[in-house]
Amino acid sequence: MSASQSTAPQGRMRVLVIGAGFAGTTAAVRLAGRSRGRVDVTVVNPRPTFVNRLRLHHVAVGQRVAAPGLRDMLGAGVTFVEGAVTELDPDAGRAVVSGPDGRRDVPFDRVVLATGSITEPVPVPGGEHAHAVGDLASAHRLRPAFAALREGAEVAVVGGGFTGLETVAELAETRPDVRVRLVTAGEVGGWFSPRAGEHVLDSLAQLGVQTIGRTRVRAVEADRLLLDGGDEVPSELTVWCGGFAAPPLARESGIAVDDRGAVLTDGALRSVSHPAVLAVGDAGHVPGPGGDRYSMSCQAALPSAAQAADVLRAEALGLGPDGVAAFDLGFVARCVSLGSRRAVLQRTDRNDVARGWAWTGRAAVAAKWVQTRGVPSSIGVERRLPGAIRWPHSERVALRGAPSTAG
Ligand SMILES: Cc1cc2nc3c(=O)[nH]c(=O)nc-3n(C[C@H](O)[C@H](O)[C@H](O)COP(=O)(O)OP(=O)(O)OC[C@H]3O[C@@H](n4cnc5c(N)ncnc54)[C@H](O)[C@@H]3O)c2cc1C
Repeated sequence: MSASQSTAPQGRMRVLVIGAGFAGTTAAVRLAGRSRGRVDVTVVNPRPTFVNRLRLHHVAVGQRVAAPGLRDMLGAGVTFVEGAVTELDPDAGRAVVSGPDGRRDVPFDRVVLATGSITEPVPVPGGEHAHAVGDLASAHRLRPAFAALREGAEVAVVGGGFTGLETVAELAETRPDVRVRLVTAGEVGGWFSPRAGEHVLDSLAQLGVQTIGRTRVRAVEADRLLLDGGDEVPSELTVWCGGFAAPPLARESGIAVDDRGAVLTDGALRSVSHPAVLAVGDAGHVPGPGGDRYSMSCQAALPSAAQAADVLRAEALGLGPDGVAAFDLGFVARCVSLGSRRAVLQRTDRNDVARGWAWTGRAAVAAKWVQTRGVPSSIGVERRLPGAIRWPHSERVALRGAPSTAG
């Protein structure tokens, strides 16, 4: 590792965490809390408040969403720097941060890339006409555009993944006076077990959403979508929910990345090209048990960040390479909201594939509420009780069921 010689006071390891979303905050508080004063942890983030991405579709429809201060979340054991890393030299162990106080160099021995993801660039012509909800700036742009729609206006959400489903339902529930459609290449609700999938379709129908599945969009125009096969869908406001991609920092820094810009890592979450770089959350591509990367999700973000903290702790304390086992996460369930009164909690297998039971009633709504409000709180728990975050491992996932309402 070229950036390995620590020059921090008393030989402490200097760890720079880039990004303070779910993964970056978790990695920082766990490492600071468990490294017995042997690590200096610095976190860089463009804004001083936490963005709960699970609720960006709520931001887009005008709801108030809590934005706790990052300095409080991170605690006194972590140095916070407001700004964005604009240049990263992993070989020299140097990052350039641009923020309200200008540009400054931040040296490091190890860097944790926790830069998350944004909505993928729209892969068809006319992307400039499309909105998104994948990052705060996009949600803020969508908010006034959505609020300003006239009665009877036509709205289309493109993409039937979890973000598309949650977004289309929220838009329709908030503005029953506009016509909302969901257009997606797959089958709407097709990811879920059959009865849960039916619940998704029923819920969208009750909200007045027209669903158009198995259809590809070939272009976005200011007032319509052009579909493969020649059909058109009127849309004065289009929200693209096609998928997430990592920001360009890693690629531009010469770090090996996948086709979505996420850092290719080994089981210790170290970059395969630059071992002084660890990547966590949406920014990292670590192979999951099925061979594919773990999906970009909170469920992977917190455990991978906790694992990276444990890897660096073991290194700083001289526990050797066997101090921490390779990263292993087993998915258990997925929870998807369909507006404020409907949701699905779907059991999955360890590879994040829907299997078995699903809850579709009030319990699912409550579970989603707890998830969207509770995940940020779990970072506070980790700060107070370092090591508190634990996760199911793929080979140990219990396959026991639960009361079945669907599936
Ligand atoms: C509407 C919506 C609903 C979702 N619902 C769910 C759900 O129900 N369940 C689920 O598991 N997942 C869900 N997700 C996905 C989930 O939000 C992400 O997987 C999760 O936020 C990833 O956490 P992260 O810490 O890796 O990245 P992020 O939360 O994106 O945090 C990355 C941070 O890095 C900062 N950053 C980026 N570049 C730089 C830079 N150059 N310098 C400094 N800082 C930088 C960003 O500003 C940000 O603060 C949803 C996402 C959206 C948009």
